[in-house]
Amino acid sequence: MATLVDTTAALEATKLDDAAELKRQRLRDKKRRQRQKQKEKKRSLTERRDTPGKGQGLFATQSLEEGAIVARQPPALSVVFDAHSQTVCGFCFKPDTTDKKTIKLVKRDGKVGVVFADDEHGAAVVTRLSATGANSTADIKQGDVLIGVHGALVATTGQALEALRNAPAAFEAVFIRPSLLICRDCGRFATCKDCAEQGRHKWHAHECQLFQNLPSSSKRGETSPVRLLLRYRASADIGDWSTDKETIDEVRSLVTTKGGIDASTALALQKLTGVPSDVCSLLIGTIRGNAAAVFRNNHRVACALSAKVGYCNHSCAPNCSASVDADGKCVLTATTSVTKDEELTISYVDANQPVEQRRAILQEHYEFRCECVKCVKDSRALLKLKARSRGKEHLQNTSRLAREQYMHAHVKGGKSTGV
Ligand SMILES: [Zn+2]
Ligand SMILES: [Zn+2]
Ligand SMILES: [Zn+2]
Repeated sequence: MATLVDTTAALEATKLDDAAELKRQRLRDKKRRQRQKQKEKKRSLTERRDTPGKGQGLFATQSLEEGAIVARQPPALSVVFDAHSQTVCGFCFKPDTTDKKTIKLVKRDGKVGVVFADDEHGAAVVTRLSATGANSTADIKQGDVLIGVHGALVATTGQALEALRNAPAAFEAVFIRPSLLICRDCGRFATCKDCAEQGRHKWHAHECQLFQNLPSSSKRGETSPVRLLLRYRASADIGDWSTDKETIDEVRSLVTTKGGIDASTALALQKLTGVPSDVCSLLIGTIRGNAAAVFRNNHRVACALSAKVGYCNHSCAPNCSASVDADGKCVLTATTSVTKDEELTISYVDANQPVEQRRAILQEHYEFRCECVKCVKDSRALLKLKARSRGKEHLQNTSRLAREQYMHAHVKGGKSTGV
């Protein structure tokens, strides 16, 4: 009996202990979450806030020096144009840098000491180089593709092996070192080695499948608008292709400047891509208003929609600039020093154009009249200039009038004033 009582008491005590421990644990978790939040807040240099007359804008949460990187992330949504879809990485826009090399090979006991396998195109890809082979010191790496043997082109592993067997004791071989992996299924997508290593080519399989399911008429001509919508859908279905990138949800919070497309087009796109028609319209409108062009080797190869850049309002005298760097990240850079709580702005137009031109473009494409400090100053200067030239004209006119009147009086009166 006593034992029983003791046990109950012990159990009660344990329960109390557990409850207390649980409470302490919860408190610790809460504190940890708060610390984490504070840390994140400290880390982020920007914050979205309401800005009078312009909806929301992006603001500096601390003072920034000129040249400071305000934000740098792969954009939320991007698409490579068809003409460049095999020569630019579909994730980070790295351009093709395939190297072609001619290497002198020698045979030892009839062998060159290189092991080949078929790649997905059936071509001869190097899998291994014999460490003790005759060509062990040659500049050949795993993944290189043999395309020429002793002056003859070889397209398949079979052809390559036969050509190697028939080659003389010493001969020239041509290897290429491909930098991009081209999707064999859609032919509209390439992945660079770095992105492939991170499993992104596998992610592409999802959007690729959606693309392949399209009717053939939709796969002709420029397909980038449809591929962009499919990429959006793939991201919504299976998640983003990287945890570092801006999320697809951030795009939804961008304000469209213009209704991109009419209702019937939006409905047709919904049928085609499975993306709701209002989202299609919003996305295309947002792309038209906010997307950044990506240039590689002087070509406009892709467009990228960055939420952070999209949050920035326009100014003809901006304190930030946006670009897509060599790693495919959208970079927002402070072009002047910025004080804490100052709004971060970029210019949507060439700010060196005359004020009337800038305002006309902004009105046409973004549907607002720019009243930035530069526009106000420039338009005042323009008004003054106009007034001055009108004044000059007026002066010229009145002086001519006076002269004529004077002459007229003289002729009439026939007198000299003696002046
Ligand atoms: Zn890449
Ligand atoms: Zn594909
Ligand atoms: Zn302006």
